[in-house]
Formats: sequence, C-alpha cells, structure tokens
Amino acid sequence: QQDVLEAPFMKEMMNTTYDMWKLGWDELNGGNISYLLKEEEVKSYLDLNQVKRTISLDFPVKELANQYFLVTGSGKFFRKIIENPEECLAVIRVTSGGESVELLWGLSDGGRPTSELASHFMSHIIRLKHDPDHRVIMHTHATNLIAMTFTHELDEVPFTRTLWQMCTECLVVFPEGVGILPWMVPGTSEIGKATAEKMNEFRLAIWPHHGIFGAGETIDQVFGLIETVEKAAKVYNLVNAHPDGAKQVITDQQLIDLAEAFHVNPPKKYFP
Ligand code: 13P
Ligand code: ZN
Repeated sequence: QQDVLEAPFMKEMMNTTYDMWKLGWDELNGGNISYLLKEEEVKSYLDLNQVKRTISLDFPVKELANQYFLVTGSGKFFRKIIENPEECLAVIRVTSGGESVELLWGLSDGGRPTSELASHFMSHIIRLKHDPDHRVIMHTHATNLIAMTFTHELDEVPFTRTLWQMCTECLVVFPEGVGILPWMVPGTSEIGKATAEKMNEFRLAIWPHHGIFGAGETIDQVFGLIETVEKAAKVYNLVNAHPDGAKQVITDQQLIDLAEAFHVNPPKKYFP
C-alpha cells in the first residue's frame, strides 16, 4: 500500500485549498470541497475494510451508495490543511443504504465532514445525471462575488448578463449562466436541496452574501470556473466604484458573435 499523502487526489486537495486561502476566499474555516474518488484509486492507498468510524447523515443519499469521497472537515481551516491533512480532511464511503458515511482515513481529532455535506452530496447526485464524468463540488467565500450580491439585483438573468459583460471570455466559460438562491441558513438539508435544484441548469450556484458553489469534472476545472466568476465580479466592483461608471460596454451583439465564434449556446432567455 502506498502513502495516501502521496496520492494525486490528496496533493490536489492540499494545494488547491491553500491557493484558495491565499486568494482570501476562505477565511477561518470558510469553504469546503468534496471530490468523488474511484474505488481503484482509493484501494492503492487505503485498506477498504478498515472503517475507523461511522457517521450518520440526516439526509439519506441512496443514489451515492458505496461511493468514495475525499472531503474537507467541518471547522477546519483551509490555511492549515497543507500542514495537517490527516486532521483536516477525510476519505469517506457512503454506506449501501445511503444513511451514513464510513470514515476510512482522516479527521484524526474526532471531527466531522463539512457541515455543508447535504449541499455537496445532493449536488453530486444531480450533476452526475448531467455528466457521468462529474467529480468535484467546491464551496468558497469568493470576496468580490459576495460584494456584488449586495450591489447588484439578485435575478439570475441580469446577474449573469452583467458577469458576461465584465470580461470577454466569461460567456465562453459559463454559457449556461449562474444560478442564484435566496438567502438561506447554511449547513442545512433545505439549502442542500435548493442548491442541488440549481445544479440541474447550472454548474455555479450563488448563495447571496455568503459565497458560491461550483461543480465539475476536476478540481482545476471547478477552481477555474469560480476564479472566472470572481474575476468578473471584481471588475464589476471596480467599474461600479468609479464615479462615472462605465463609459462603454460589451454589447449584446458582441456577446452573440462571441458565442458563435466559440460554438457555445447560451439560452435564449439571456437575449430578450
Ligand atoms: P465547514 O467548516 O463546516 O465546512 O463550514 C464552512 C462554511 O463555509 C459553511 O458554509
Ligand atoms: Zn460557507
């Protein structure tokens, strides 16, 4: 058996959470990531019969029965994961009934997986229906995006259009747009259901005044998606802070030309 700390999925998780902290997105214990692993991947690093603890869930996830995940722990600091992965991270397996998870590695201080596990698991279930190669759900407190949810109206169509208008390549990166939830109490099954519902249409769901959820096939892909939205939000905030505002904008016709050139199909609702 090889050292699990040398596993590519572990290194990706450690490096990415540290990068996210450096960007200022994950203060204190803010943010969480879950990464769907293949049994073959886990098997070369861990004994699959050695269950350390069983942790019950208050939202059953039968659809994820027997699936393996690398997840961040609740209350753990992204800044510290790289120093102390065995305390801050967990490799878990959903039980065959989907009512609890078995801890195979990590959370060495007796901790629990992220408090947003409902949003993660329910979003995985939906994204896997749309993309069989889907693997990663990432939640973070991206600073400029949070700021934008105070100054911009919170309707999905105008919010998405504004993001697209801030950087030319945004439309190509998320042509389906961004979903927006109402403000809700985090860490609950209710916000989990609402987030997952958005994942039917989008890979990005904004939690106003809190942060964002992203979905995708790799850690780098989801990080890149969120990074792109955050960049657009930063440009929006910079332009809005200018006393004269914008002197010119990317026009609808330019967005349509862009979609055509890059062979992406934004839904018609964005161009009334
Ligand atoms: P956890 O520490 O439980 O992952 O919670 C952090 C967070 O961002 C809650 O929304
Ligand atoms: Zn959060």
